[in-house]
Amino acid sequence: MKQEKEKVLISACLLGENCRYDGKAKKVNGLIDLTKYYDLIPVCPEMSGGLKVPRDPSEIVKDKVLTKTGRDVTENYNSGAYWANSICQIYHIKLAILKEDSPSCGTHFIHDGLFDGKKIPGQGITTKKLVKMGIKVINENEALELLKKMSEVKNNA
Ligand code: SF4
Repeated sequence: MKQEKEKVLISACLLGENCRYDGKAKKVNGLIDLTKYYDLIPVCPEMSGGLKVPRDPSEIVKDKVLTKTGRDVTENYNSGAYWANSICQIYHIKLAILKEDSPSCGTHFIHDGLFDGKKIPGQGITTKKLVKMGIKVINENEALELLKKMSEVKNNA
């Protein structure tokens, strides 16, 4: 019987889904090769939280998430995080690959809350939630590194 692959959550924009605030994707070509080892489950927490495409850019400002025009969208971000975590719990997901720098998906960096293009160390709202639930969260570059290591192991086997 064919063994089921481990399920891994991934930011949908990294696989080419046009779900970003600007209606574009952030496709990272190599990531699709992860399907050799994992069953990828794409999610976009911002859309799951009720936000549309395109939408105003948002940043984390203290304990809230605000659009560039000052609208409070914290609830949308929280519900997107809740949704992403629910999927992880349902499918027993232990690893998530999330898009760096996003106010939802940022793993190590987010924008500074001043809409000036600068980044600061921090985690997006969904990343924070998943990490709190014990899920390992890595960004797209770390995922490519992981893929490289897995390919090396496979080639040396
Ligand atoms: Fe990509 Fe995450 Fe932003 Fe959706 S919320 S567009 S998945 S970075």
